[in-house]
Amino acid sequence: ASSTGSVQKDCSSVTPPYSLLIRNLKTVRDILGDRPLTLAEKILYSHIYAPQKSLANGRLVRGETYLQLSPERVAMQDASAQMALLQFMSAGLAKCAVPASIHCDHLIQAVNGAASDLERSIVSNKEVFDFLESAARKYGIEFWRPGSGIIHQIVLENYAAPGMLMLGTDSHTPNAGGLGMLAIGVGGADAVDAMTGTPWELKAPEVVGIHLTGKLNGWATPKDLILHLAGKLTVRGGTGKILEYFGPGVAEQSCTGLATIANMGAEVGATTSTFQYSANMRAYLEKTGRAPVAHAADEAATQSFLSADKDAEYDEVIEINLSELEPTINGPFTPDLATPISAFGKFIEKEGWKDEFSAGLIGSCTNSSYQDMTSVADLARQAKAAGLTAKVPFLCTPGSEQIRATMERDNLTSALEEVGATVLANACGPCIGQWKREDQTDSENAILTSFNRNFKSRNDGNRLTMNFLASPTIVTAMSFSGKLSFNPITDSIPLPSGELFKFSPPTSQDLPSAGFAAGNLSYYPTPSPAPQPDSEIVVRKDSQRLELLESFGSHFGPDSGNPRGLELPELKVLLRVRGKCTTDHISAAGPWLKYKGHLTNISENLLITAVNDEGGEVNVAFDHDHDAPQPSTDTIPGVAKRFKARKQPWALIVDDNYGEGSAREHAALQPRFYGCSMIIARSFARIHETNLKKQGVLPLWFVDKSDYNRIGSGDKLETIGLEDLLNGVPDVGIRVKVTKLNGEVFEIPTRHTMSTDQLHWLRYGSALNYIRRQLS
Ligand code: SF4
Repeated sequence: ASSTGSVQKDCSSVTPPYSLLIRNLKTVRDILGDRPLTLAEKILYSHIYAPQKSLANGRLVRGETYLQLSPERVAMQDASAQMALLQFMSAGLAKCAVPASIHCDHLIQAVNGAASDLERSIVSNKEVFDFLESAARKYGIEFWRPGSGIIHQIVLENYAAPGMLMLGTDSHTPNAGGLGMLAIGVGGADAVDAMTGTPWELKAPEVVGIHLTGKLNGWATPKDLILHLAGKLTVRGGTGKILEYFGPGVAEQSCTGLATIANMGAEVGATTSTFQYSANMRAYLEKTGRAPVAHAADEAATQSFLSADKDAEYDEVIEINLSELEPTINGPFTPDLATPISAFGKFIEKEGWKDEFSAGLIGSCTNSSYQDMTSVADLARQAKAAGLTAKVPFLCTPGSEQIRATMERDNLTSALEEVGATVLANACGPCIGQWKREDQTDSENAILTSFNRNFKSRNDGNRLTMNFLASPTIVTAMSFSGKLSFNPITDSIPLPSGELFKFSPPTSQDLPSAGFAAGNLSYYPTPSPAPQPDSEIVVRKDSQRLELLESFGSHFGPDSGNPRGLELPELKVLLRVRGKCTTDHISAAGPWLKYKGHLTNISENLLITAVNDEGGEVNVAFDHDHDAPQPSTDTIPGVAKRFKARKQPWALIVDDNYGEGSAREHAALQPRFYGCSMIIARSFARIHETNLKKQGVLPLWFVDKSDYNRIGSGDKLETIGLEDLLNGVPDVGIRVKVTKLNGEVFEIPTRHTMSTDQLHWLRYGSALNYIRRQLS
């Protein structure tokens, strides 16, 4: 059955327990003294687990104190859910401790269009979808089957609520911040904390205030605000920080526009982003069938829970005047290379790139709101009236079944199709490398997308595809020209008649007057399903897609065979990685997504696009201990496998912002699987650093970044000082003794960010080993 009207929801499991949270926050305020708090602090502190115990010393310093938190909900996408659930299963609980949902979106490949792509992907991923569904049934998790939509859009439409704290196993989880909550992207092991009822640890983030004044006008959209901000902050600027937007410009934005801004806070490395509760949020809750949540939030707002206190102090304040913003295009290859559209043509010319692009892609979890779709449909209608069709393949990914059905009912889909658009399945598709492209497999070309991320190879697996990020309206308008230098604000397109056609600024509608259409009702799971502990989860022994997890061993304790006691055993350096190394470099997506539930198989992609700083080659590592006939060089996973076979624990030397990009915990699991025990970096991205700790890998930071160049492959490393740290001696730095291949010996200082709990993870071999021990 399908419905053109909206679905009314059971709101009891999605309304935050405001009275409890406000009470908890009062306890924290009593401990801290009544200082004014930012909104981010209020939401975080109201979720502190047992505040009297965990804040016993009365101190809470942003950027320093580790908080023990109780998130209210967990959301998982199909690729990362596999490993999260495999880890949860090994904890041995009968049900999930908090409400949770699984979303089948990443594994659906875009080839021809929605219907056939979905059908094919369901067949080719059947084993995985069946596994996820059976785990959902057993543990009482809501299961959104393939075709229902993209995790972040579904969370915004169904689960997000002002003041809530949620974890999601995907780096764009902060999208839900558009509804005035804190939604944080984490690895599966962190999700397991919440799912087992174990307090989840987070270092209290600094809070950056972003003061919005003025009014967006003409072609400028919320997407342009975040593209502009990414250029200002760079991909590292938000690390360890929450971005809290305030000022008169916030209330002007639609809830879904705020979600776009929050979504791409991930691109600057921010922990998450949030906004104070607004009338537009209330309207969105009501239109998406959650009026009771809106009423409860209204009441909580009267107790000043959903906004910052007057005079709240931010660690930094950034001023943005929305009236001055112009559409911005970011890229290629990094989301922080921002160019205002008025300068973009010159930029292309200066770089010597061809003035053309090969595809325009709109939609995804970042930009497929009703507002986005009405604005692009308006442009499509203008173009159609002038007799134009898209000059390049023009693809649209709706974020959810609700959006797809509403687009169809309100004739937005037909407006796009009439100018040549192909509407893809409600899934990630080309945003995550699930794009079977026949036209540009290995040639240099450019694409324009309204997505959020543009690392090399991300969309079509071709390292030469330059991906530029822009608002959906800019992507759409430019798709009628096919030229990168085309600026729809000032330029015209020649028509066959000899006349010139110029777009008018797009008009849009924030929310559908007739409400959202639910579409195919079979996509909606039973709310809060009861767990079925007797039902079975089947993982075939010979499966190439799924593999039950074996727990990692510990380097410490009597059975470890480690002669160095509470120091790490002697490690060998596998590789010094040069430059940008994102989680996509460490564990590539695209065709590898199908092995997300099989650690042995997916580990074959370890660091295959990383650059070896000794020689500058991609996916080449040196084996200084090789025995003939083994060659002295091999692929990176090839040498890692040799080390594992020799039971030789190893280390990596890496550059700045190592592990930026996503919450992909495989990027930590895979090196650990092959025996990586320590990574020394010039700096780490936050989520990835935590993921390493969770899997029992010790992340260390160079105190002197130039020490990076002094250590190379084959060198031996020994920690000095870890023993003291594990024995509870406070404020100990760890030194690393380096024995070079030529026999030279020296020591370097490092620093670490390990909290007391995280040291337990290291001692027991992984966070999961520690949780299991706690629960037994
Ligand atoms: Fe899917 Fe792309 Fe959104 Fe990630 S960013 S959830 S891959 S649509």
